[in-house]
Amino acid sequence: MSKSGAGCAPAAYPPPIDTQREVIKHTLDGEDQRIEVGVAVVGGGTAGLACANRLMQLLADDPQTSERLGEIPVAVIEKATVCGGHSLSGAVMNPGPLQELFPGSSREEWRNEGFAFGEVTKEAVYLLPNAKTKVRIPVPPPQHNSGNEVISVAALARYQARVAEEAGAYVLTETAATQLIVDDGKVVGVRSGDKGRGKDGEPRHNFEPGNDIKAEAVVLGDGSWGHLTGAAIREFGLAQGREPQVWELGVKEVWKVARPLDRVIHTLGGWPLKISSKYHQIGGSWIYPMRDARTGEDLVSIGFILDLDHADATSSPHDFLQLIKTHPLFRSVLDGGERLAWGAKTLPAGGYWAVPKLSMPGAVLVGDAAGLVNLVSLKGVHYAIKSGMLAAESIYAGLRRGDSNFASYEQAIDESFIGQELYKQRNTRQPLRKGLLKGGPLVQLMIATKGRFPGGRWSVHADDSQPMFIGNSKSRYPKPDGSYLFDKLSSVFISGNASRDDAPSHIRIQRRVPRELAETWRWMCPAAVYEIADDAPAQGAVDVIVNHTNCVQCGAITAKGGRLTPPEGGHGPHYQLT
Ligand SMILES: Cc1cc2nc3c(=O)[nH]c(=O)nc-3n(C[C@H](O)[C@H](O)[C@H](O)COP(=O)(O)OP(=O)(O)OC[C@H]3O[C@@H](n4cnc5c(N)ncnc54)[C@H](O)[C@@H]3O)c2cc1C
Ligand code: SF4
Repeated sequence: MSKSGAGCAPAAYPPPIDTQREVIKHTLDGEDQRIEVGVAVVGGGTAGLACANRLMQLLADDPQTSERLGEIPVAVIEKATVCGGHSLSGAVMNPGPLQELFPGSSREEWRNEGFAFGEVTKEAVYLLPNAKTKVRIPVPPPQHNSGNEVISVAALARYQARVAEEAGAYVLTETAATQLIVDDGKVVGVRSGDKGRGKDGEPRHNFEPGNDIKAEAVVLGDGSWGHLTGAAIREFGLAQGREPQVWELGVKEVWKVARPLDRVIHTLGGWPLKISSKYHQIGGSWIYPMRDARTGEDLVSIGFILDLDHADATSSPHDFLQLIKTHPLFRSVLDGGERLAWGAKTLPAGGYWAVPKLSMPGAVLVGDAAGLVNLVSLKGVHYAIKSGMLAAESIYAGLRRGDSNFASYEQAIDESFIGQELYKQRNTRQPLRKGLLKGGPLVQLMIATKGRFPGGRWSVHADDSQPMFIGNSKSRYPKPDGSYLFDKLSSVFISGNASRDDAPSHIRIQRRVPRELAETWRWMCPAAVYEIADDAPAQGAVDVIVNHTNCVQCGAITAKGGRLTPPEGGHGPHYQLT
């Protein structure tokens, strides 16, 4: 790196955390101090809950095994105040796996439950050459959505949690799992985090220590860059021989609109991004119709996604979302409407070669934690559900045998439509490294030939190895007006974000870094967590101010040189419609 910091890569400033020492615990507390459960599921998102739902179905037909697992056969541990409170998606869902999980339920019932908002009947894909015009292109085959259902994953998780509880699972919300307990090379449980520590980390008057939760099997469904998943991957060498995982960051709003939208719309590349390899901004947007069957209201989900491999430090997915709302394509839908919800979240984007080994002694990875997302079609919800179900079946079979080897799960994923589809798209993201102009045609070729041409294994470039420079993307962001275009802080407010002001910071970054890196964090963070003092030098090292209580736990900082760790249970956003 030069003295000015020009071209500095975030990887040169690793976060101050010794993950293995902090996150892996090697002994279980004594019997009187711990909670014992059959299966501990970390994460009450769609994947973890599908695993709990399927396990309860299997145990309902097998009272003997259920009884052997004790008073709590299945426990779901979720850090949000309710399951789904930290879940966010587009979200057009392939309905197959959910129908398979709940065979008796109809799409009408899903809509009346309030998590489904209608079947896709029409769709369109546009290129946006500039701020005024659009060019309609044929829908690429993997992006066909006809027959899919628009849903809210936050609401779906609330429904799945209710079904799991009614079937006898124990759902423990407001509880962060902070450590993975590994004894003699096998995962034997997790530890929940302490509550009531002060800013300095010392216990306050209302301090409650965490507990060891011993389990015969642990399911890691802790989502995109899961804290425990990351530690498990290192502890058990699960990513050996794989490509590095990479991420995209999506920012989303839900609007009540005056006129119904009749189709699912995606836009690709082009405006407002700078698509040359210098800026390396790859991304796109969506707008989906949602009809609330219970109120009769017409809503839309609108969002913008950016690859976290970008090079211009002033790239801001939140501001790109505000900017695309000024394009006539979106204005014609939103004008006269009202914003109801906002949120932000990352999704894993490395694809087939970046999926780690999915099982280790005593535990498995499911959903986004496992990197199971189809980037070409922007779909992970049905993979999350199916992977949760397959994990449940493998764990159930293992528990009946009295065995903690769940390798059959990995094989089941490989043989399922998840493994097959991801394999066909194994090289579709990598050519974008050359920029959209040069890489785009290669991507189309990879899609058309199902990955056979040019073939081989294309390497993935870690997001934090991208050298950053201070470009001028920021000059195009529109000024918030508080009614149509919004700033970050008012957006965080409507996410229902709640964190104790005097809680210790859960964001680990180096506090003094080159301005390029500080600007990267400041612009990228959708929640205005990072600030640079007005009187900081224009070049060289600057101090970063961290307003950690704004954090909506999107995970992006982990991709770009820092580390998100789980804050105290119950902190963070309270997503309901996202
Ligand atoms: C912007 C965006 C748009 C998308 N659009 C689509 C789409 O249109 N269609 C589609 O099919 N897919 C889409 N996806 C992908 C899809 O949303 C995900 O693949 C899917 O929701 C993943 O579910 P999950 O249960 O694995 O993860 P999550 O929903 O993230 O659940 C993980 C859960 O674990 C909890 N957790 C994490 N760590 C801990 C801990 N230490 N202790 C306790 N709890 C913890 C979290 O709070 C969370 O509730 C999109 C994703 C994004 C981000
Ligand atoms: S501080 Fe929180 S909200 Fe901001 S980028 Fe990091 S994880 Fe996302």
